[in-house]
Amino acid sequence: MNYITTQIQQKKFYFEALKFYYLNIILYRQVDQLKIDIENMKTKYEELNKKKRRKNSEIKKLYVCQHCLKTYGTYGAKYKHIKIKHQE
Ligand SMILES: [Zn+2]
Repeated sequence: MNYITTQIQQKKFYFEALKFYYLNIILYRQVDQLKIDIENMKTKYEELNKKKRRKNSEIKKLYVCQHCLKTYGTYGAKYKHIKIKHQE
């Protein structure tokens, strides 16, 4: 009787250990996946930043306001400016 209960306890302990072993594997995989997700987000963020910087510094401002000679990158921006600043 005593021998059986210790055997059962040993099996229980074994299965608990196995359970934690597999839980650990699952958690490690999830952490790895999260690391990959974070890296992907970082590269996306950096790409977006690069695009923004390029837009601010490299776009030639071709649209000139005929009223005050301010320059704008798009027709729409110039149009908005004229509507706001030079028309009532
Ligand atoms: Zn103007």
